Amino acid sequence: MPDSISSEGTSPLSVFSLENKLALVTGGGSGIGFHIAECLVQAGAKVVLTGRRESVLQEAVEKLGSQAVYFVHDITELGTIPKLVADIEETHGPLDVLVNNAGINMKKHAVETTDADFDRILQTNLHAVFAITRECGKRMIERKSGSIIMITSMAALYGIDRVVAYSSSKSAVAGMVKALATEFSPHHVRINGIAPGFIETPMMLTAMNGDPARRDKAMDRTPMGTWGKPDDIGWAAVFLASNAAKFITGISLPVDGGNSIGF
Ligand code: NDP
Repeated sequence: MPDSISSEGTSPLSVFSLENKLALVTGGGSGIGFHIAECLVQAGAKVVLTGRRESVLQEAVEKLGSQAVYFVHDITELGTIPKLVADIEETHGPLDVLVNNAGINMKKHAVETTDADFDRILQTNLHAVFAITRECGKRMIERKSGSIIMITSMAALYGIDRVVAYSSSKSAVAGMVKALATEFSPHHVRINGIAPGFIETPMMLTAMNGDPARRDKAMDRTPMGTWGKPDDIGWAAVFLASNAAKFITGISLPVDGGNSIGF
């Protein structure tokens, strides 16, 4: 087999393998995060899930099997992040992959969005993402190895009404990806974003089903004309975490059925 196809092992597909890798997925108990964790496990990784609801995390780990464990953790409690990461690494070994998936949204007109609303969204989607990335990044830099993935949004790429705080937070994270890539990449720690389009999650479907005009508009804006599945994001995460993406850093990859093309 030529080196360009299979420099990592015996099969061309082994370049996507995450065998013996440890991945942390924030908000991994439900929604897109759970499916990211499921794909990482299928690629061979061991996964650590975090979230605030223990029952949800327990159920997720039961579904994922022995390759998954959880830590109950609220990422907005910034001061607890160094201990979380230290506890994970002491118990399960060094983290190879961080997926910053946990996030919250809020639909409100800009003029009705209070400072408290804005702070709440930015605390979860931006400050906490930076704090956990800094902690994991520091350790990965010492080991000269790691891959960090931020789940952003198409709201980071173009204007969507009534999500000003969410949009601001996700755009800032897309900027963070580029800024951190300049500092982390020389130390062999890659950092990339994934910008999901309209993905079929309970949260998204509930929001859209209550608003059929918005649902139709979403599909009109999607050249492929279908909803994305959560594992579309999961497989993109496997790719970016793996050696198949070993020369990719500082990008935001749209996974959106063509939504971001604009037409
Ligand atoms: P869900 O609401 O279904 O899941 C969010 C997850 O984040 C939950 O597991 C939740 O767990 C966790 N979470 C939220 N707040 C915190 C917190 N303070 N501390 C720890 N965990 C937290 O959302 P989705 O799966 O739809 O979204 C996942 C990511 O994808 C988000 O970043 C979102 O912005 C992004 N995205 C989603 C799109 C979609 O179409 N669904 C489109 C574009 C982007 P718990 O409540 O137990 O803490």
